[in-house]
Amino acid sequence: MRALARLAAAVLVVASVAGLAADAPPDRALATARAVMGEHPEIWIGASIIRGKHAVVVTGHAASTPPSLSAPGAPAEARLADVADSARRTVARVWGPVDAVILAPATDEQAEVLASPSGVTGLAALADVDHVILAPSGFGRLSPTGRRVVLAHELTHVATGAAISGDMPAWLVEGFADYVGYLGSDLTARAVAAELAAEVRSGTLPAELPGREAFRPGASRLPQAYEEAWLACRYVADRYGERALVALYRAARRHGIATALVETLGTDLAELTAAWRGYLRHELA
Ligand SMILES: [Zn+2]
Repeated sequence: MRALARLAAAVLVVASVAGLAADAPPDRALATARAVMGEHPEIWIGASIIRGKHAVVVTGHAASTPPSLSAPGAPAEARLADVADSARRTVARVWGPVDAVILAPATDEQAEVLASPSGVTGLAALADVDHVILAPSGFGRLSPTGRRVVLAHELTHVATGAAISGDMPAWLVEGFADYVGYLGSDLTARAVAAELAAEVRSGTLPAELPGREAFRPGASRLPQAYEEAWLACRYVADRYGERALVALYRAARRHGIATALVETLGTDLAELTAAWRGYLRHELA
C-alpha cells in the first residue's frame, strides 16, 4: 500500500488486492486512471484506486461517506477488481492486450457526467476510448455472471477502439463485444437470447442484420438487436473459427465490411445474412 501524490482536489489511496510486484498492471493503466480522474476531480474526492493483477478500478464514495470510513480495498471493490481481471484475460486471449481501467462512480448522476455527451440511462456500463464507466444502479442490479459479461463486453470495445471507429457495422461491433463477453459463461443461446428466441419460435425471423438505429437507447427491439448481433458473431466463430471472426473484425476496420467478408470468409453480406437466419432457426427454435 502506498500513497499517491495529491491529484487536484482528490485524495487517492492505492490498495493492492493481488500483490503489486510482478503482477502489477503497467504504469500506463495507472497513468490513464489518473488522467481520466483529473478531468473530473470533484467526483473522485475520497476515491480509492484498487489494483488487480492487471485491472485498475477507481471507486468513488458518496459525499455522505467520509473517506476515512469508506475503507479502500473493501471486499466489494476487491471483487470488482477480480472480475475486471477475469474479463480482461478473456479479451486479451481473443483480441490482444488491453489496459483495463474501470471507473466506478458513487452515483448515476456522476456516471452521467463522466459519460457525457453519451447518457447512461438504462445502461450498466459504457466504454470510452481508454476506460470503462460503470453506472452504479444498472451495474448493481446484475448477477455476478452478468457483471463479468458486461465488463468483458466494454473492455472489448476499449481494446478494439470502438469509440473511434464510427463507420464499423453496429452488428459487428456489438456482436463481437457480446461474443467475447459471453465466452466461458456456460449460458445457452436460448437463455441469452430469450427475447429473440420467443420471436423465432412464433415464426418470425429478422430479415437483416441489425443496423445502428436498432441499438439506440429506447429502441423497441433493443434486446433482440444485441441478441441478433451476438448470434451473427457466434455463427461466424462456429462456422469459420474464432480466429476468422477476429480477422473479420480487423479487416473490417481497415477496408470496410464488404471487402472484409470476401477477404476473410469468402462470402458476402447476402450470403452471411441467409446463413445467419438459418443459424437463428437452428439455435433458437
Ligand atoms: Zn457495446
